Amino acid sequence: MALKGGRLPVVDERALPYSHPLYDTLLQTPGLSVATAAVDLVLEWGLRNSLWIFPMATSCCGIELMAAAASRVDLDRMGTIVRATPRQGDVMVVAGTITVKMAPRVLALWEQMPEPKWCIAMGSCAISGDFYRNLYPVVPGIDTVLPVDVYLPGCPPNPEVLMHGLLRLQEKVRAARSGQPVPRDPNPGLIDLTKPANGRVGDPSRAADLGAQQVAAALVASSLDRSDEPAPGAEPVVEAPDEPAEPAFEGVAPEFEALLRDTFGVTDFPKDRAPAVDPARHVELARSLKRMGWRQLVYVVATHYAEKTGAKASPERFEVAYALRSVGAGSKVAAWRLELAPGQQPPSLVGLFAGADWQEREQFDLVGVGFAGHPDLRRIMMPDAWDGHPLRRDYPADKECAPWR
Ligand code: SF4
Repeated sequence: MALKGGRLPVVDERALPYSHPLYDTLLQTPGLSVATAAVDLVLEWGLRNSLWIFPMATSCCGIELMAAAASRVDLDRMGTIVRATPRQGDVMVVAGTITVKMAPRVLALWEQMPEPKWCIAMGSCAISGDFYRNLYPVVPGIDTVLPVDVYLPGCPPNPEVLMHGLLRLQEKVRAARSGQPVPRDPNPGLIDLTKPANGRVGDPSRAADLGAQQVAAALVASSLDRSDEPAPGAEPVVEAPDEPAEPAFEGVAPEFEALLRDTFGVTDFPKDRAPAVDPARHVELARSLKRMGWRQLVYVVATHYAEKTGAKASPERFEVAYALRSVGAGSKVAAWRLELAPGQQPPSLVGLFAGADWQEREQFDLVGVGFAGHPDLRRIMMPDAWDGHPLRRDYPADKECAPWR
């Protein structure tokens, strides 16, 4: 299909009248309605008993969703099988927390499911965001993004609850096919407690144009998604050649301490934290340690310290902590940290440890520390257009992110 302006046109088919010459002739044939009523019963039975699930399982509730397909509950018994494609799904089961980065993808997938379609919100995270509701990355309930037909409370709801929800959905399908009005279930998590900043779908208080904004944002986010691709023009990562095989490492922390003292001039070894190393020499330190047997990069963790005033006044600063582990029996950890002023960029470890790539990107994304020489330093957790770095101490934890929260 040709895309206008790079976006799929959104067509609301629900208001379109259905007409077909054969259908109209059948309607006018005397007595035929008796036969078509029987056919309709069969079709309705088939619809109710072939509710194929499109799983949107993002966290722990997803495990219960998987368990529902296993032998004890065995969802297949009611014709409910799980399909990993929206094209063949009838029921989207949202099982787990949905973040503002996922929400556009969830909505884009929902739009690809053919009508008639339904949504089950499984677990309190999908219903309301639960513990994470007021956190910057979390959507406060999937019903602020798409319409929900059945809510399954619990943390997590067990597989039997999911089966109950599908039976409830079957009742709704039967009622709808027989022409009865089917009101939406109320959201049990939020009825009279608190309201999400974005109105739920179908809620009169919801902003009239919010749905259109969300669809537009979903289409843009999906078309821009390049998280699995290398950055344009990025230099390929060149790994240092493997060091020649070393004898099995038997050193312990004193060896690391001796290296720091003798070669890197470190004299302060605090009891409660890793020793600080000159940022300009830390690649050299990492290379030495790798040669000595510390060959696995365990973590790269950045911390932000906001400016303090008063009696304990201190300027804004950052720290980045690194840890390597020796491999094999008697494995030991060697940890050090870098003390940085705002804007100071330590050299990247990507050339020495391939695993530093995404770990440094994560610290850049969440804390805002840059790493000189990193070949592809861009966001990894948050949406590309995210404002600021959410793990800085002065960042508001409940920051809005339109049009999702
Ligand atoms: S509701 Fe509970 S079990 Fe389900 S995703 Fe949230 S925290 Fe996990």
